[in-house]
Amino acid sequence: MKSILGWDLGNQNFRLVLGTQTKDFKPQILAVLERPSGGLTKGAVVDYEEFVQAADRVLEELKSLGYSPKHIFINVAGPHSNIKVTKGMIGVSRADNEISEFDIEQLIQKCQEVNLTHNKTILHIIPREYAVDDLRGIKDPVGMHGIKLELESVLVEGFLPNIKTISKAFNELKKKVETMVFTPLAGSRSSLSKKQQEVGVALVDLGAESTSLAVFEDGKLLTANSFPIGANHITHDLAIISEHAERVAVMYAGRIMELAPTDKLFKNTRHPYTIGLIKSMPEKKGISLKPIAGFIPSPGSYPSGCKFSDRCELATGECRVKEPELVKIAEDHFARCVKALK
Ligand code: SF4
Repeated sequence: MKSILGWDLGNQNFRLVLGTQTKDFKPQILAVLERPSGGLTKGAVVDYEEFVQAADRVLEELKSLGYSPKHIFINVAGPHSNIKVTKGMIGVSRADNEISEFDIEQLIQKCQEVNLTHNKTILHIIPREYAVDDLRGIKDPVGMHGIKLELESVLVEGFLPNIKTISKAFNELKKKVETMVFTPLAGSRSSLSKKQQEVGVALVDLGAESTSLAVFEDGKLLTANSFPIGANHITHDLAIISEHAERVAVMYAGRIMELAPTDKLFKNTRHPYTIGLIKSMPEKKGISLKPIAGFIPSPGSYPSGCKFSDRCELATGECRVKEPELVKIAEDHFARCVKALK
């Protein structure tokens, strides 16, 4: 069975939908997965090996479920993707001046004749509005008559090094990326109705490290972009949290390590990870920060027992035997550490 895989490359999670077409040409969903991603920051590959390993884990899991999709569609945002409005104009080719599909193809080619910088490539060209002999606001001119045909379109540029890196990674895994879709457009295809796009709508997709935006009005794409700021910049910023949150859950390797009302967490910090985070906060000029030693392990290579034990200054053999439970240490205050109650 021919299947198609849609793959959302999130900074924290990969989200995949595997589908096929039934005999009566209806779409059928075969599998939906959300799995930890790796090697990505703000939509760009920053650790190639980690990215390949994370993608391989997902493909292996699909294989174990009996699926080996050949066609992969991937969304891309990342750094330096941007959109431009381009215009093109041609004379209608047929002698009787009827506008044909051939004219549309020629016009779209014209709109792509832009100066791209060496590290950019065209991801999409989206017709916005046609004009036939200066009659503007035309959505589909095929079959109409005229002499001059114009098009205003939206051109989406992708960042070539990142696109090449992603393609190379999937080639290494013996998969071919069929198409890359600009993230804000992928979101609008799946989430917005035609009616919403006609009336006017802004789609904001707030991810962990990036946010994508697409704005439509009168059925036309007005703008789309991806910004390197996401929920993590709010939820992972202790300075913001200390001012705005009522309760805080400090997480590490997908586990809640400490959970408490904000004032208790800052005044009576109990978990070594939270203590490390607070020590690494910039407080006063001239005071050097103390980062937590080591790096966050990638999923699949967490240490046994406490997931923080490889980086914890207080770790002992006891910490590596069994993963600690999240235990209550005071009213409304919980911590996951073997020393929390001592
Ligand atoms: S359980 Fe051990 S390694 Fe984990 S945070 Fe507590 S002291 Fe550190």
